Amino acid sequence: MFTIKDHLEIKNNHLMIGGADTTVLAEQFGTPLYITNESRVIGNFSAYRKAFPDADINYAAKANGSFAIIRILAREGAGADVFSFGELYMALLAGIPREKILFNGNSKTDFELQKAVEIGIKVSVDSIDELHTLSKIADSLGKTVEIAFRVNPDVSAKTHPKISTGLRTSKFGIPSEEVVDAYKEANGLPGILPAGIHCHIGSQILDTTPFTEATHKMMDLVEKITGLGINLKFVDMGSGLGIPYKKDEGQAPTPLDHAKAILPVFEERTRALGISISPRLVLEPGRFIVADTTILLARVNTVKKAARNFVGVDAGFNLLVRPTMYDSYHHVVVANKANSRPADTYTIVGPICETGDIFAKDRTLPHIEKGDLIALLDAGAYGFSMSSQYNGRPRCAEVLIKDGEADVIRSREDFVDLLNGQKLPARLM
Ligand SMILES: *Cc1c(COP(=O)(O)O)cnc(C)c1O
Repeated sequence: MFTIKDHLEIKNNHLMIGGADTTVLAEQFGTPLYITNESRVIGNFSAYRKAFPDADINYAAKANGSFAIIRILAREGAGADVFSFGELYMALLAGIPREKILFNGNSKTDFELQKAVEIGIKVSVDSIDELHTLSKIADSLGKTVEIAFRVNPDVSAKTHPKISTGLRTSKFGIPSEEVVDAYKEANGLPGILPAGIHCHIGSQILDTTPFTEATHKMMDLVEKITGLGINLKFVDMGSGLGIPYKKDEGQAPTPLDHAKAILPVFEERTRALGISISPRLVLEPGRFIVADTTILLARVNTVKKAARNFVGVDAGFNLLVRPTMYDSYHHVVVANKANSRPADTYTIVGPICETGDIFAKDRTLPHIEKGDLIALLDAGAYGFSMSSQYNGRPRCAEVLIKDGEADVIRSREDFVDLLNGQKLPARLM
């Protein structure tokens, strides 16, 4: 038995996850199948908590919204970053206390704002327009809502353009030079209590220097806001810490590296504010907590030599869209031949009727034939949560492994689920 990628092992030529044999899981639950290792979720969260012992860790629920996973993190003491009422609903139901939740979003509905006010959830306000809407809603309900402004710090996160969120041109947040005025305005508005400040510069960040740059910029703002007589209770630095999807990508930063990039600046500059109660630091990791906890297991339907050596599997971008949408790399293991000699170069494709439905290009892998099992590693973040029924494909099941035992945490959809909510007008009966 030996280890690949930390918590994944190979035993008798089979890929093992959390002590469970993937080939057995495929027989037992069918394919495609998402498989998550519970102890890895807990381990990743603990790593963050240890790296930032005095900070609040809000899990970014959009990375993986499966209820069991949110529940695991709730029990570990995580807060939540939610981006919709749906995510808020799930986080609360999973047992995350309302005080530990921040409601983010650049285009919230009035319904969502009203719910946040009613329940007593802090809101990250993305525009002055939204500030006024929120004030009216809170005032009309006779309530006060704690807010942060989402700052666009104009920091390049050095990542894929589609997951850079803190560039000047991004749709998220308020330009940093307008932020101080926003606090002035918020301070006088009914129903609004400026309580924090928030940014998030992007995702899959492998160079931690942008975190330091963003911390400096945020602390410049905190200084000015404190100067207005507003004492902020929290500074939320978002997250975006990347993971090593490619094994040979060099050393990927850890939560400790993330902490080294943020904490010295944050601590020094909060001390320099000379106020008795310093703001609390908040982090919002998503990808780091869940990405490497999960694999997507798919069965080979057919192998074809054409322009490339195509391997057609039973999962497509309906279940894992990252390679198609972000050109992402996912490491591939032939799960039932995990230790076999590399034999050829293969391109792993899905069954979807789109040219872009490619998981992995030109990978050197053991000899592949119909019936083999392909594991796509590091599929836990922005995987199932972005899935669809495109091409008339019911979504697959998800299982959770604990001490080698599997529990279904989401049933495989049936074909009748394709009709969910659909109706025929009487004339078409
Ligand atoms: C998506 C998101 C996160 C989490 O990002 P990761 O790259 O998954 O760590 C945190 N905060 C906000 C506001 C987000 O939109």
